[in-house]
Amino acid sequence: MSKVLIIGAGGQIGSELTQKLREIHGNNNVVASDIRFSNLDTVNSELIENLDAKNFDAVKTCVEKHNIDTVYLMAAMLSATGEKHPMMAWDLNMNSLFHVLNLAKEGLIKKVFWPSSIAVFGPTTPSIQTPQHTTMEPTTVYGITKQVGERWCEYYHKQYGVDVRSLRYPGIVSWKTMPGGGTTDYAVEIYHKALIDKSYECFLSANTELPMMFMDDAINATTKLMQAPSENIKIRSSYNLAAISFTPKELAASIAAHIPEFEIKYNPDFRQKIADSWPKSIDDSSARRDWNWTHNYDLEAMTSEMLKQLRSKYDSEAKVST
Ligand code: NAD
Repeated sequence: MSKVLIIGAGGQIGSELTQKLREIHGNNNVVASDIRFSNLDTVNSELIENLDAKNFDAVKTCVEKHNIDTVYLMAAMLSATGEKHPMMAWDLNMNSLFHVLNLAKEGLIKKVFWPSSIAVFGPTTPSIQTPQHTTMEPTTVYGITKQVGERWCEYYHKQYGVDVRSLRYPGIVSWKTMPGGGTTDYAVEIYHKALIDKSYECFLSANTELPMMFMDDAINATTKLMQAPSENIKIRSSYNLAAISFTPKELAASIAAHIPEFEIKYNPDFRQKIADSWPKSIDDSSARRDWNWTHNYDLEAMTSEMLKQLRSKYDSEAKVST
């Protein structure tokens, strides 16, 4: 049985990944860690550690204390926040990865998951059905850290035999935890605002098409990749991963099909430039071929599920406060 550590377990993806890994490995085999505890109540864990991913000794002590063999490194500074704090983004995103890769190189950890992003691509990348292997000239600090991280993952695998696996996540849409400062955050905020205010002011323009994915698909992809036999993992930098692509206008229309009075306005800010540098759609045939990746949610299925879950969440919060 694997003993798993999630670093950044309170985040948008980490909080749901922790729940899934508990189902797979058992409550007592999953340690949830973060530098902040705000979202960790969704994780409901006795195995919680306050851990700074930038502190090598603290990560090593935690790994040794719990006999960890697998680490999911989810802590990072995301694209929009990274543009405001470039050196902090570089410091967190690179040093946390080196710490975990070096623990794996020392033999303390057997397996590592580290997420990359569609932000590794840039304006010179073919933007429709972006291939697995293509021009990569990212223009954000976040994208640079992810691209460099991918190179190091592949290097540690080739030079030191480290079993590190990675996915280039598209924008992730979820209802349990709010997103943490990325360019695709609008696709989560819009559902909350549709239910609360029946209107939303979008920080991207109407026709900005981006690759996206419902959280359940992202979690399935992650666990499927980690469970695949090592020989099936042919790509040790990071796999392209795709489900759906849509624009804010198309997303608004899918919401309006459920909430006819819903209105959207567009007021693009600095995130528009980031979005414009990213692909519109992704070719993930390598992932589909090597470890049988498939997605389940299209735009309509995602919108139905998001609205259903958020309605029930807001209803139960209203009951608690009355
Ligand atoms: P998030 O911002 O929601 O969560 C990150 C978590 O890391 C937070 O809980 C934060 O408290 C924690 N953290 C920050 N600094 C830390 C530190 N020094 N030590 C320990 N924990 C620290 O991010 P997310 O959306 O859950 O993303 C998880 C990973 O997936 C990141 O690597 C991100 O780049 C990648 N990714 C996310 C998306 C997306 O749409 N959410 C898309 C592509 C890639």
